[in-house]
Amino acid sequence: MSSLREYIKDKKRIVVKIGSSSLQHRETGDLDYIRLEKLVRELCDIRNQGKEVVLVTSGAIAVGKKAVHLKEITAPTQAEAMAVKQACSAVGQARLMMTYQKLFAEYNQVAAQILMTKNTVVDNLNRYNAHNTFSQLLRMGVIPIVNENDTVATYEIEIGDNDTLSAIVAALIQADLLILLSDIDGLYTDDPRKNPEARFIEQVDELTDDLMEMGKSSTGSSVGTGGMNTKLIAAKIATSSNVDMIIANSRDIGVLHRILAGEKEGTLFMAHQREGFDLPAFVENLHKF
Ligand code: GLU
Repeated sequence: MSSLREYIKDKKRIVVKIGSSSLQHRETGDLDYIRLEKLVRELCDIRNQGKEVVLVTSGAIAVGKKAVHLKEITAPTQAEAMAVKQACSAVGQARLMMTYQKLFAEYNQVAAQILMTKNTVVDNLNRYNAHNTFSQLLRMGVIPIVNENDTVATYEIEIGDNDTLSAIVAALIQADLLILLSDIDGLYTDDPRKNPEARFIEQVDELTDDLMEMGKSSTGSSVGTGGMNTKLIAAKIATSSNVDMIIANSRDIGVLHRILAGEKEGTLFMAHQREGFDLPAFVENLHKF
């Protein structure tokens, strides 16, 4: 236990992001119900502590692919491949929500679905509406479940990965803490899967250009879309918007209550509000980074 993390106990509004690779069985790609169950139980318990919880979840495309028995998303043209992906996400998002609804109901919590695109943040009216909806849901004690609206998001309006999306949500609702659950322990000085000398970084006080560069060279898992690069972009959005962010390993979902009990888990990126950080402008330029 570290006193440095004690203050995390006081966090009130928490966004948790979980990626496809943490929700599926590696061998089959099917949903891992035990992990999903544990995730929902942890989130409900956080809610029962009187905190506000938002879940950002991937899995729509992966679940949809399985449902229509597709191994890969391939098509003769890019446009057709996009249509296949969007169709899969339409099937999968509904299935995913069905599962979440069932599990949250078992713990007596009400869950809601919010699907977003880049426009939700860039467009002033959309952003205003989204903010109001989140605020109202949280006031009602509901747990919003967020994903990108993959069924309509083409390149021009897609955020593209849920690491970034979760940071955008955290910034939009002025969350106190964003937790990215991933298949790695946190940030290392190099890719630990390739370099045994890589050292673990417990805390990042400032996101320097060197750190951001380091992220660019990393790739992600084959399932989700996020590697370390997208996690560092998420950290940039979150910390610049005064939100602390933790990357932690989803191997044991119980890491969530340990983090909120002040235990030293994962890598903590310290919030340091940047005056003049313009969320809509940053999101508008996302693909240019
Ligand atoms: N929105 C995508 C999905 O639900 C996943 C994006 C990601 O993995 O970051 O399938």
